[in-house]
Amino acid sequence: MPRYFPPVPTLSQIQRGTAWVWLVCQSCQHFQPVTLAQFVIRWGPDISSDVLRRSARCHRCGHKGAALQHPSWTGSETGFQTYADAVESVAQLDRLIAKYHDGSRPSGLVRRAPVWDGNRRG
Ligand SMILES: [Zn+2]
Repeated sequence: MPRYFPPVPTLSQIQRGTAWVWLVCQSCQHFQPVTLAQFVIRWGPDISSDVLRRSARCHRCGHKGAALQHPSWTGSETGFQTYADAVESVAQLDRLIAKYHDGSRPSGLVRRAPVWDGNRRG
C-alpha cells in the first residue's frame, strides 16, 4: 500500500497560521525564533518551506539545515507565544548559560562542565 505524504507547505501557507516559527538546529538543538516575512521577501511567497529548512545555518555550531517548529500554545487567554516573548525567552536562556559558563556570549561558548563552588562535596 503506497504511503501518502502531504505536500510540503509553502512559506505563505505557513504564514497564514503564524507570523514566525522556531528554527531548530538538527545537530545541536539550538533554537531561534525567526519571522517568516523576511524569507517571503527574499524568496517569494510560493517557495517551498523546504528551502528554509535546507538553507538555515545554526549560529552556534554552523550546521546547515533546521527543523521548523510552530510557536507554542500558551493558554486560552494568551494564545500562541508571541515573537517578542520568544526573543526574550532566548535572551533569558543566553544570560543563564553565560552566567554558568565564562560570561561570554553563548555563540562563542565552548562546551565545558559546569563550574562548582569549592565548598560543595560529592
Ligand atoms: Zn547547531
